[in-house]
Amino acid sequence: MELHEIPNIPEILDTETAKRIKSWPHPNNRASEAGHPCVRFLVLSRTSNELKILHDVGLQRIFDEGNLHEDALMREMQDAGLRVIEQQRAYEWKKFQLTGRIDGKLPVDSSRIPLEIKSSSPNVFAAICELAPIDMLKSKFSWIRKYPAQMLLYMLMEGAEYGLMIFKNKTTGEKVQKIFRLEGELLEYAESILKKLETVNAHIDEGTCPDAALIDDCKGCAFCKTACFPGADYGPGIDILQDPDLEAKLDRRGELEAGAKEFDALDKEIKEGFKGRPGAVVGPWLIESSKHGRRGVDLPPDIKKQYEKITEYWITKIGRL
Ligand code: SF4
Repeated sequence: MELHEIPNIPEILDTETAKRIKSWPHPNNRASEAGHPCVRFLVLSRTSNELKILHDVGLQRIFDEGNLHEDALMREMQDAGLRVIEQQRAYEWKKFQLTGRIDGKLPVDSSRIPLEIKSSSPNVFAAICELAPIDMLKSKFSWIRKYPAQMLLYMLMEGAEYGLMIFKNKTTGEKVQKIFRLEGELLEYAESILKKLETVNAHIDEGTCPDAALIDDCKGCAFCKTACFPGADYGPGIDILQDPDLEAKLDRRGELEAGAKEFDALDKEIKEGFKGRPGAVVGPWLIESSKHGRRGVDLPPDIKKQYEKITEYWITKIGRL
């Protein structure tokens, strides 16, 4: 056997993964997308699917992994004696031209609770963990608001008082559940989603589409460069990515930035104050300060020039759009 005969398995598998990158046209509103804040997006998703820029293999791998984890969680629940019925049941609500497919229902007493399973990266999981259902719909992130929108629509279509969403951390296997009850602000939010769908349906009926207006979600939107802002160019080679995990990391980075700056300023100020002093004990803190020398060679400029060399390095800047 020759070395070149050994198959490159990752390459073969990536080729298969790439075949799954598709975006199917759908004539109806979809429950999983209904929480999207942009009516134009919801209209274009139904009328102009061909303008959607498809995601890359990297994101498809993440989707595939997510599906594996969600299937595994369903099996884990069943192995634990939890009965999940009507798995992958399709829904249709003609009045709102709305369709969806629920992961299953959990029978409890005489009720059947709609159940959705979501797998998430550690960062997304950490962001979700702290939130009650009511906080989810107030989140500044539309990808978080989409979760309650989807669940609440299933509950309305099913006529269920309760709904259950289970999130699994793909790295640690940890789970957290959110119980939704159709009342108060959650009910109001569900009604606002239905109103938005009515607006979408009116546009579809009239063959119109609202104008593009720049919002946060445009950054990762599959229609951004094709239908809405075709001339928008952030620079050569700069892609508009749909990567919730990276976005969650950047958002967290943004939240920590002010604290980090304050830390650096205080750290500098305190250390400056101890230059030339051996240190101190202040409350529960021990400060130790000492003088050190740095070895260096002072060369005449013409000699220095002879030894000059260029070392390549990357500078990555992160800023808000
Ligand atoms: S790019 Fe912006 S305006 Fe256009 S569909 Fe997407 S979110 Fe809406």
